[in-house]
Amino acid sequence: MEVETNLKHIRRNMEQACEKVNRNLDEITLIAVTKYVTIERTEEAIKAGITNLGENRQEGFLEKYEHIQDNVQWHFIGTLQSRKVKSVADKVDVIHSLDRTSLAKEINKRTNELKDCFVQVNVSGEESKHGLSPKDVLSFVKEMEKFENIRIVGLMTMAPHIDDEQELRATFRRLAQLRDMVKEEKLTHAPCEYLSMGMSNDYTIAIEEGATHIRIGSKLVGSE
Ligand SMILES: *Cc1c(COP(=O)(O)O)cnc(C)c1O
Repeated sequence: MEVETNLKHIRRNMEQACEKVNRNLDEITLIAVTKYVTIERTEEAIKAGITNLGENRQEGFLEKYEHIQDNVQWHFIGTLQSRKVKSVADKVDVIHSLDRTSLAKEINKRTNELKDCFVQVNVSGEESKHGLSPKDVLSFVKEMEKFENIRIVGLMTMAPHIDDEQELRATFRRLAQLRDMVKEEKLTHAPCEYLSMGMSNDYTIAIEEGATHIRIGSKLVGSE
């Protein structure tokens, strides 16, 4: 399986999803999630044209970060333990998994510049998932004002691992509504324009529902 072939296929699906709902393809950032694969495979993805990489663990991120010299944007998409923030905060461009005040405090302390963060929301309410409950999102975002190095650029969610299209749509729609609600507040520290949602199995649905950042691992770079 070649990354280049997969990428072509995914781009075609992205285009079709955009056409369906009258969106522009260039509104969408494709993040290649490289957490399962080697540095070589990651470099193959960059050669194929990928410019955004996502990692979900500190160790995996640092290993790739140290080896990859290309000019790419790094997205941290996994649960971040506060004690590990120090080693990654200044190296990653975007954090997708901000879900608690203690983590925000640590990020704020460990970075010297404004850090773009997505607030992770547990829309589906599954116990196994991280993220804020939808009802707590607005007050949490407002609270972030006190951290001068944090900018809330959007909301992120992981949909349940199911094939039920209607339920997936409902999850993505709920996140879009929450994003609209925060955006309407016009908070200086929280423009909250973006939606990070959609993975290998549901990215076309996510795009139809407004995703601006899709995170694709297995169907793009593979899973081993
Ligand atoms: C692993 C992971 C992905 C990518 O998953 P695939 O199903 O392999 O595309 C996306 N987002 C997060 C947060 C992940 O941990």
